Amino acid sequence: MAAGDWTLTRLRAAVAGGDVSAREVCDGYLRRIAAADGRIHAFTTVLGEAALARAEEVDRRRDAWRDRPLLGVPVTVKDVICTRGVPTTACSRILAGYRPPYDATVVTRLLDAGAVVIGKTNCDEFAMGSSTEHSALGATRNPWAPDRIPGGSSGGAAAAVAARLAPASVASDTGGSIRQPAALCGVVGLKPTYGRVSRYGLLAFASSLDQIGPLTLTVADAAAVLQAIAGADPADATCATEPVPALAGLFPGDARGARIGVPRAALAAGVDPEVLRAFDAALAVLAGRGAAVVDIDLPHMAYAVPVYYLVAPAEASSNLARYDGVRYGLRAAPDGREATLAAMYDRTRDAGFGAEVKRRIMLGTYALSAGYYDAYYVHAQRVRSLIRGDYDQAFADVDAVAMPTTPTPAYRLGEHVDDPLAMYLGDVFTVSANLTGLPAISLPAGFTRAGLPIGFQLTARPFDEATLLRLGDVLEQDAPWSGARPPLAPA
Ligand code: GLN
Repeated sequence: MAAGDWTLTRLRAAVAGGDVSAREVCDGYLRRIAAADGRIHAFTTVLGEAALARAEEVDRRRDAWRDRPLLGVPVTVKDVICTRGVPTTACSRILAGYRPPYDATVVTRLLDAGAVVIGKTNCDEFAMGSSTEHSALGATRNPWAPDRIPGGSSGGAAAAVAARLAPASVASDTGGSIRQPAALCGVVGLKPTYGRVSRYGLLAFASSLDQIGPLTLTVADAAAVLQAIAGADPADATCATEPVPALAGLFPGDARGARIGVPRAALAAGVDPEVLRAFDAALAVLAGRGAAVVDIDLPHMAYAVPVYYLVAPAEASSNLARYDGVRYGLRAAPDGREATLAAMYDRTRDAGFGAEVKRRIMLGTYALSAGYYDAYYVHAQRVRSLIRGDYDQAFADVDAVAMPTTPTPAYRLGEHVDDPLAMYLGDVFTVSANLTGLPAISLPAGFTRAGLPIGFQLTARPFDEATLLRLGDVLEQDAPWSGARPPLAPA
């Protein structure tokens, strides 16, 4: 079996057992990246020498580090997560050339677990988008169909795993950015409970919604990464102190006795028939393995997209105020006309931010402005509470809520880039988990007739990632397509 087909779990075991060195593994992935990433463009930075040096360090310490959960495992990091001395630009011109002086907590934890960071992955600018077309560095292509989007904003992270250019990626999810690209690229993507994973060192988009999580080829691999990065962090006051259970013990997963709720009314319109068919097939698998599938009602779900597109831009408009040309990244040169500080701010922000980021800053500033604050922002927060109430009520009866991850499979590059509303509406099934803080996972659920991946999403109670992983593993055990490789994956 080619190195690239190794799952994280097998790879770690092979390194720990001395069957292969961490350096050989790292070198193998770097070769695959060199062979294939010119066409996919999943990476914004590839760490060549630095990654190999790190892999050699892992090899030198192998005996002492044998029990480390990600020993010798190459991992990619989304370009909105700080890596010390390594470019971290949020795929924005405004942070061009920025090298953070510190690692995000998740990066520190990956390294403590024995991982080798091999690169930074492409995304929509400041994670605002659903296709990676808003990256200032150019779009990523879907490894299953190069004329199609990989999803977004973490399109690079998902494409890298799907094309076997890395066994695992860590990325952020504010309204679906882990789960939606995972679905469209046919990999596993997990958004943990808000507060489960530290956000220290994540370039903030919308602080009450942002959460970091893994993208991997298998559910057990997602559990291994989550285990490594989760848990309390004094550097992030919103990071929960809730204990992290031992997740490896969940496998093989079991669905017996689980109750799964389906909000049928929410699926009545606008969902591609092939997506719906795959969704029902996945439910049938879970039912066949002993789960009870019942209808539930999420009456405020229709408001999730409008609420998200008020709350997220409002928080973004505040978070992005720090990019002013003074402290980081780009500073526009004086133009000789107006040499004031305010003019420098204006020119820097005008040159540094792309069109979608500017649109969000304007929408958010408007929603927070005097006179409109109550009508828009406060109102959206109230409806957000109602959405959370819907889920609380559902979880009184069921253990998980099932929905498709996306209403359609991957669309063509360019198809929605000039139609923000169409792109926003594609987030209909993912934004609720962020508005409520609940954990959610996207699982591969087969392919359309044209060969495009389809995702199946489960949401669970707060801090109950275990249920998502257990049920996800059941689905994976039954998946006749597991192991299918995209055409753009190198041999
Ligand atoms: N697609 C959503 C947006 O554009 C979500 C992005 C994200 O999760 N970062 O805001």
